[in-house]
Amino acid sequence: MNETLSGVVTRVTGASYIVETGDGLKVRCRTVPSTVSENEGANLVAVGDRVEFRPKASETDMAEGVIVRVEERRTSLVRRREVRRNRSKEKEQVIVANIDQLVLITSFDDPPFNSRLVDRYLVFAESEKLPLLIVVNKIDLDEEGMVEDDLEVYRELGCNICLVSAEDGRGIEELRELLRDRMSAFSGHSGVGKSTIINLLVGREELRTAETSNKTGKGVHTTTSSAMFPLPGGGYVIDTPGIREFNLSGITRENLRFYYTEFLRYMPECAFSSCSHTVEPGCAVISAVESETIDAGRYESYLALLDSLDE
Ligand code: GDP
Ligand code: ZN
Repeated sequence: MNETLSGVVTRVTGASYIVETGDGLKVRCRTVPSTVSENEGANLVAVGDRVEFRPKASETDMAEGVIVRVEERRTSLVRRREVRRNRSKEKEQVIVANIDQLVLITSFDDPPFNSRLVDRYLVFAESEKLPLLIVVNKIDLDEEGMVEDDLEVYRELGCNICLVSAEDGRGIEELRELLRDRMSAFSGHSGVGKSTIINLLVGREELRTAETSNKTGKGVHTTTSSAMFPLPGGGYVIDTPGIREFNLSGITRENLRFYYTEFLRYMPECAFSSCSHTVEPGCAVISAVESETIDAGRYESYLALLDSLDE
């Protein structure tokens, strides 16, 4: 068998890669010294990579193959590292390649909606130039429609928001539409219902199959690796580790202000061109906060995030 096939890497376990083709074929692949990559300076294979592979005869039940070529990544999410500066040649650790959107799962309550976390994700998404979809789960707990109070500022910012209840099924069809034919990276604080939602979307059977696909029966679901699940309607859900795992080192005290997009129209009017919008006289952003045209909560989250970037 010398033919070459194309597929997507849906799971990485050590040096073993599960590659799936569009028509349901699942092949366990490895790389060889001659494997070609179009991604310089990064790890060879990541979840989400599009690859060409050559199937080979296999003694196990699962088809096996060799990755011949890794295609250029359209986007990459990179793991944060405690980089030792003198080792500048260190390779980027890409955790997820080729995603189309970030999906932040939050909940209305239990745990309560966390706008600071949403703001962090908005900054992250903006800096990665990826769209963010904010999913608010557990709206069955919202008997009085209070969730709109939390969301008002995000609606004004024009964020993509989807209200769901994994419990009673509300909003799940709308969510399916927003995910169709796209690669979506899910994250969220524990307890918000992320697993319940992923199970609903991919079908319980699918999730279980994926988790036991390794014939050795060894656990393949580790806390640091990303798992990717095909959606019945087309597209993939990628269950990623949280934002803290990703590289926020591109965000600095100097550039954070540009990722609070509602500040941008006021910034040219600040008295100082390098205004940090914290203590400077004649700051147009602070004036806008005082006149309530910029949300005070968002401004406070800017200050808090700025503080956390201190060292
Ligand atoms: P994860 O940590 O984000 O993966 O959260 P889980 O999916 O494990 O869910 C955490 C808890 O929230 C479980 O007890 C779920 O039954 C519950 N839960 C999930 N979705 C909903 C929902 O829409 N409404 C309510 N009331 N509870 C939910
Ligand atoms: Zn200013």
